[in-house]
Amino acid sequence: MKNIRLIFVLSTLLFTSCTNHSNDRTIRIDNIIDLTHTLTPEFPFIPVKKLTYPFELIPMATLKENGVEANSWKIHEHLGTHIDAPNHFIANQKSVDQIDLKELIVPVVVIDIEAKASVDADAELTVDDIRSFEKQHGEIPDHACVMMYSGWEKRLTDSSFVGLDDKLVKHYPGFSTDAIKFLLTNRNISGIGVDVLSFDRGIDENYVGHKVLFAAGKWGVECVANLSKIPKSGATIIVGAPKVGKATGGFSRIIAVW
Ligand SMILES: [Zn+2]
Repeated sequence: MKNIRLIFVLSTLLFTSCTNHSNDRTIRIDNIIDLTHTLTPEFPFIPVKKLTYPFELIPMATLKENGVEANSWKIHEHLGTHIDAPNHFIANQKSVDQIDLKELIVPVVVIDIEAKASVDADAELTVDDIRSFEKQHGEIPDHACVMMYSGWEKRLTDSSFVGLDDKLVKHYPGFSTDAIKFLLTNRNISGIGVDVLSFDRGIDENYVGHKVLFAAGKWGVECVANLSKIPKSGATIIVGAPKVGKATGGFSRIIAVW
């Protein structure tokens, strides 16, 4: 696989008559990291009374009985490593199948807030965090996915991943609404992502950041794996979003290459 280079000429794919080659990008695949968690019945999810449930793999046919092996999946759209489409919170916004392909193969940057998240489960990724990231790594590139790394995936098999307290309030870090507004106003992003269950903090029951991001037609990815194993800047992600009509998101294979 080493030394193979894929050249994605996005402008040729999308604008065959376009003479402006500013969209040309070369993607190295010398390094490949899977940003996807394996989905199992044990995978944590946001507990919403009478609505959400764990993943189930239900045998549909077996080699012994039917001469063929196949399963049914019991799954909802926001389970495991998954994408949220803008119609998740905003009426008449794009469903997952309508997200433009060129918005799903994009540069990725990783903003690390593990230090503060390790001592505060309600920590936020702030505008200051974005500014200090950019001081070190340069401005967030056009069409980027901005990922928050909080170190939360180390808790995946632990109840602190959801972090329910005595009052059944969730506690995990997320983007501040101001940080999302800053990215929408001052940078040209494709989406954002997190290594926790939701890019709004666990304590935000109103999903304010979701509404702001989706009103702008951008996507989010949640429960993203291995963000500590890719460069803070310079990699590309390929988001294998499911092409299901009208869906508000769904389990996705997310791959980082550089
Ligand atoms: Zn979701």
